[in-house]
Amino acid sequence: MIEWTEQQQMIRGMMRDFIEKEIQPHLDALEYEGLPPYDLMRKMFATFGIDDMAGANFDKQIARLEAGEDGADKPSTSEPVDGDTLLQPEKLDAAAMPLLPTIELSRVAPGLVTAMGVSVGLTGGAIMSKGSLDQKKRFARDLLTFKKVGAWAITEPNSGSDAFGAMKSTARRDGEGGYILNGNKTFITNGPHADTIVFICRLEEDNQHAVDKKIVSFILDSGMPGLEQSAPFKKMGIGSSPTGELFLSDVRVSADRLMGESEDGYGRSGAKTTFSAERSGVAAMALGLVERALEMSLEYAAQRVQFGQPISSYQLIQLKLAKMEVARLNIENLVFRYIETRARGKDLTLAEASAMKLYSAQAAMEVTSEAVQIFGGAGYMRATRVEQLMRDAKILQIYAGTDEMQIVAIAKDLLGRA
Ligand SMILES: Cc1cc2nc3c(=O)[nH]c(=O)nc-3n(C[C@H](O)[C@H](O)[C@H](O)COP(=O)(O)OP(=O)(O)OC[C@H]3O[C@@H](n4cnc5c(N)ncnc54)[C@H](O)[C@@H]3O)c2cc1C
Repeated sequence: MIEWTEQQQMIRGMMRDFIEKEIQPHLDALEYEGLPPYDLMRKMFATFGIDDMAGANFDKQIARLEAGEDGADKPSTSEPVDGDTLLQPEKLDAAAMPLLPTIELSRVAPGLVTAMGVSVGLTGGAIMSKGSLDQKKRFARDLLTFKKVGAWAITEPNSGSDAFGAMKSTARRDGEGGYILNGNKTFITNGPHADTIVFICRLEEDNQHAVDKKIVSFILDSGMPGLEQSAPFKKMGIGSSPTGELFLSDVRVSADRLMGESEDGYGRSGAKTTFSAERSGVAAMALGLVERALEMSLEYAAQRVQFGQPISSYQLIQLKLAKMEVARLNIENLVFRYIETRARGKDLTLAEASAMKLYSAQAAMEVTSEAVQIFGGAGYMRATRVEQLMRDAKILQIYAGTDEMQIVAIAKDLLGRA
């Protein structure tokens, strides 16, 4: 794939119009005044039929699973599904479509993508990939259609990059087939508003050292006794994505909330699949940010006159613009590669997804920072919105694994230690 198809471009244009009319007018309320993003996102889902498509897709997958077709919910394998159907346009389209809202929303408010992606992709995706059939039916449909808001909680005050090693949250068997959950989670996207929460913790077992303890996860509902959801934090950027803490104090759950209904249901490998999915999504976000920063910079540089000439006539400014275009092309190519990989029925490896995220996040930060520079003092003012792109870009280097952790993942793979 070397370019967007006409149809994809048309859909992107329609989404851009929708965002301009329906989202831009609320941008200050979303970014700075705590307006939760969910109703606006639901409006977007309804306008583009994303909710109906997700619902129909879900129903088809469940019908196949109920008919006993194993793996109906596992679209990807490490090998091409069918050599003759490689790169059929409809397969490319199916792989590309979910990225279009991500790219378009990221041009204006990457926080909205964060809130949506964590709810639909991470929380809904984790349940679809590792939940039991009953759990899929009970929890996932409403997440995939965005009727309900989801949160996916692994990070704790003392365990971030070392997510598993330093994890303190626990599940203890209650002796009656259920579990008692305790722990604090922090920096949780949608934490303050989530209806459904995937809570990842250690299984307390006698005679085991902390590092040997199994990682398990549970699907929780908001309002369960002992579960508290904090108010949103104030943040540097992505204000449209509410982030908060979760406090669990002796939350009693039955075994049907244990992911996969098995203590081997969703441990380290399940979480790693989720890491890989979210890292690929970050590149699509970076593409939206970089596209917008470049467009704004080109427009401003052409009309801003200093020393009697538009600043675009100065080579120092041209160098910045040219580097932005190089970054845009590189990120777009990574996104196209991801689309082709998915269209072939394959997944990126964790190291590939990490490389894609590392490059895209760093490029987005550099490009948006240079965009502010091109705008000069005006770039430092909120009204031009270019400073928001820069603040928002920074998160791409931190969440879904920091830049440093992407480097560790790539190096481990290169050295055969993954
Ligand atoms: C806005 C936002 C939303 C988030 N959403 C979610 C969410 O929905 N769910 C969730 O579970 N988490 C979420 N997170 C948490 C996020 O994934 C973590 O913040 C991130 O993984 C980094 O962990 P930390 O903040 O504890 O930093 P630390 O792990 O303490 O890292 C601090 C610094 O040390 C570096 N460092 C750490 N270890 C090494 C090493 N071995 N080698 C070199 N450098 C190292 C890091 O790269 C970083 O620069 C979110 C965070 C933010 C800011």
